[in-house]
Amino acid sequence: MDDMIALRCKYCGAPLDASAVKEDSPYITCSSCGTTQQKMDARAYLDQLMGQVRSWVSQAMPGGMSAAMTQNVDSVARHNIFMTNFKPKVDMEFAAYKFGMNNLLSQPLMVMPFTTRKINVSHSSNQAFEFGAKMNEISSLAVSDETSKIMTEVTKVTDAYALLINNCALISEDKPGRFALMANNFSLAAADFGHMADYSPARDRFEGLAQLCNGCEMLMNGDIASSRPQFESGRDKLKASSAAVMGNIKVAIMGQAVNQEAKMAEVLTELTDYVNSMGGTKEIFDAVRRVFTFQYPATGNWAFLLNNHDRLAEVFGYMADCVKAKSGAGTLPITAGSGDVLVPFWHIDLKYSFQTGSLWKKHSVEVSETLLVPADFVIDGDCLSSPRNAVTDVFSVKGSNGLFAGLTGSETSISDSQGLGKLADSAAPNSAGGRRIVVPLSTKREAERIAETYIQWMSKSLDKLKLSNPDVKELIYIPFESEGNKLTVKPEFGVLTPARVKRTDLGQLIVL
Ligand SMILES: [Zn+2]
Repeated sequence: MDDMIALRCKYCGAPLDASAVKEDSPYITCSSCGTTQQKMDARAYLDQLMGQVRSWVSQAMPGGMSAAMTQNVDSVARHNIFMTNFKPKVDMEFAAYKFGMNNLLSQPLMVMPFTTRKINVSHSSNQAFEFGAKMNEISSLAVSDETSKIMTEVTKVTDAYALLINNCALISEDKPGRFALMANNFSLAAADFGHMADYSPARDRFEGLAQLCNGCEMLMNGDIASSRPQFESGRDKLKASSAAVMGNIKVAIMGQAVNQEAKMAEVLTELTDYVNSMGGTKEIFDAVRRVFTFQYPATGNWAFLLNNHDRLAEVFGYMADCVKAKSGAGTLPITAGSGDVLVPFWHIDLKYSFQTGSLWKKHSVEVSETLLVPADFVIDGDCLSSPRNAVTDVFSVKGSNGLFAGLTGSETSISDSQGLGKLADSAAPNSAGGRRIVVPLSTKREAERIAETYIQWMSKSLDKLKLSNPDVKELIYIPFESEGNKLTVKPEFGVLTPARVKRTDLGQLIVL
């Protein structure tokens, strides 16, 4: 019955759990890829695999010997067989696996809850597990310290590689229970690396990732309290790994990836705090899921900014403020005016100067404008490619004679004449008082970015203007009247109403 214990998963090639193999059920679930199969299929796969392994060995063996027969050959002869008949082959095949492994090690191998990511892999896990089975078959030939060290590295690295390939598949598919499977694979990979002193930062890394995955599994099951210590200790392991990577030639390639994983651990830790402070209800969990899963438009430089997980902690912070205000436990900076739904805007100060007056009376006029940017602009591709859509476009207000034709020099600001400045300045800590609240989806840095892009673009078309850097003051909440999922235009915005506000669909946003 010994070979029954070594059954292999027919989908990924991983050895199946020995205790599950012994159970009575005709079915078995692979603890590496998560697929359930009939034991007889796993048995057939194992037979096929071992057939390939034995034929690989016998082709390389001198004089038709089998690996088992070498037990009766003295160790010098075994060493010679290994060096002459196998080592060149092993070196060559291992080089390809090691190349694929380095490619994986150089990338972040963690994924946030609810999200997926595609990681390109050079081999199937079946190939890598099969190579490991070949190495086991010839392990008795590696008799010297040197050759057994080589075999340990080759076997363990390839096994870890196969496990990580399975995790790449789990990262690309949001299926229930995937974090438990990933944690299992990371733990086994960490154990593989634990056999080799040179690879200790990789061991720490995968122990850390196993803890993050355990934490995520708990979080998904609603056990927030238990998940936090997992995230914290995973983060510490990743930081230790990151510190040890420097100057270690075997694993130097993974430095940047580990740093990114440590940042994800940071975000997860903060996330548990926010979810906890928000009461951890089903509604909150749903809102958190939506923040994770928004499909941000991949527009130019924005793609990098918006797919970076660092931003999530800030967004969850705003969400927590909204939840507290909704429940009456906190306030938000809300402006004057009526409306049943509170819509978040970035309040930005924009200063510029321009020349006016004729010839010898020319003088420079300093102007201050209020820009308001709806805080959900990041999910609107047109706003990112054409920032005018996202702002109260003060420079669009011009008569047929040009922007400042009507200005004598005593006027100050275009936005003030519309009443936007007064509106923004009326923001004061207030309770939501039964009104619905739209959750902001952008960060302060992103608000700065959209305002900068807007004025860069404006400066090109208005060369008389001298614009200074925009100053993002705060996030404010402006009451709007809703009509179904639409917002009705407020008089204070008038002609400056951002295109984004006109096409707002509350159904696409997180509204508490
Ligand atoms: Zn499997």
